[in-house]
Amino acid sequence: MLERILVRYGELNLKGKNIRSFLDRANHLIREKLEGLDVRLEFRHDRAYVFLNGVDPNAVLERLQRVSGLYSFSLITKCPLDLEVIASEAVAMIAEKTRQSPVTFKVETKRADKTYPLTSQEITHILAGKILSQAPYLKVDVHDPELTLNVEIRQEGAYLFIGQIRGMGGYPVGIGGKALLMLSGGIDSPVAGYLAMKQGVEIEAIHFESTPLTSIESAQKAVDLVEVLARFAPHNRMKIHFVPFAKLHGAILGNIPESYHVTIMRRMMYRIAAEVMRKNDCLAIVNGESIGQVASQTLESMNVINHVADVVVIRPLATYDKLDTMRIARSIGTLDISNRPFEDCCTVYLPKNPVIRPNIGTAEQYETAFAFQPLIEEAVAGTRSAYLRTDTHLDLTGKGLTVAECFE
Ligand code: ATP
Ligand code: MG
Repeated sequence: MLERILVRYGELNLKGKNIRSFLDRANHLIREKLEGLDVRLEFRHDRAYVFLNGVDPNAVLERLQRVSGLYSFSLITKCPLDLEVIASEAVAMIAEKTRQSPVTFKVETKRADKTYPLTSQEITHILAGKILSQAPYLKVDVHDPELTLNVEIRQEGAYLFIGQIRGMGGYPVGIGGKALLMLSGGIDSPVAGYLAMKQGVEIEAIHFESTPLTSIESAQKAVDLVEVLARFAPHNRMKIHFVPFAKLHGAILGNIPESYHVTIMRRMMYRIAAEVMRKNDCLAIVNGESIGQVASQTLESMNVINHVADVVVIRPLATYDKLDTMRIARSIGTLDISNRPFEDCCTVYLPKNPVIRPNIGTAEQYETAFAFQPLIEEAVAGTRSAYLRTDTHLDLTGKGLTVAECFE
């Protein structure tokens, strides 16, 4: 009988004195993510058990795989202490995994009950023999088996599992403080946010929206992305800050030489993000910049842009290949949303020849063309914030309202 799921924590060896808070946080998240399911939890020092009580294991796994800090899971079957029964159960488990194709296997036995009359080695030996006689398509390979059957002998019965299912890994979200994610509608920034959460950092999102220069569907992408990212957040909930950026955007288009449009626009974004970050007790900015991907992401550009904000900026994708980023985007469910065709403020009216090696002095000189500080203050003051949950399904479109009005 499939009885429970074994949960292993990640990186325990690295946590030193912080191990207690790591475990407390991870266990809190497990409890919270499994809320509403009729399962029972048991926490041991280096593992946790989820007793299924008949609940579908896939429903439990789907939730556990959204808890950062959990390394792997195994589905554990309990059966009576009878080697014949254990062998039959093992054959059934192997058959389910392999659909009876020929595979190599080995048995690994742990004997927690030292009064049991056979040694671990003897149990392994006898079980392997019985399994082979029931399933002749299997072969033993003790060095490099395709499947390992783990058997644990305890007083109350035998526990069996095959293999491990990968978890998110990393650290439990929230243990690393809170950061502000610059979330565009693109592919990269949601992945950057996911990676930061996986590393234990709680995220709030900031989105610069330029309606009516951009469409409201572009702001909707940010909403939908946050609702997906919230699946990995505590209580399936994430805060988003919408910054009205159109005035600044228009001022840049009207006053700045075209090749510096993106550079200056991004300097304005950094100034505002730094402000919103401090106001919301965030300790860093996270964004989706990746070295060399576009003109505004050369190291020279990053220097000129980052120069305006004296804050820690985390760029989880700095060294990522786009294909790897897309693979993650697909697996976390953001890729299809990001691929919707609507332009955001960084892609609409894109200059033909953006500067690749901008210069700080030149950028500062160009910025004297208009009084940007009042516009920045206005944008910060006009920022609208909301908590979104995975099941909020907020729809900004088709109402004839502006983004700000949707949050009044
Ligand atoms: P993405 O796929 O995340 O849009 P990108 O490669 O298209 O990234 P840019 O558009 O140059 O790159 O933006 C770089 C980063 O700046 C983004 O990853 C995001 O973190 C931030 N950013 C860009 N536009 C916005 C926006 N409208 N609102 C919030 N953040 C933004
Ligand atoms: Mg973009």
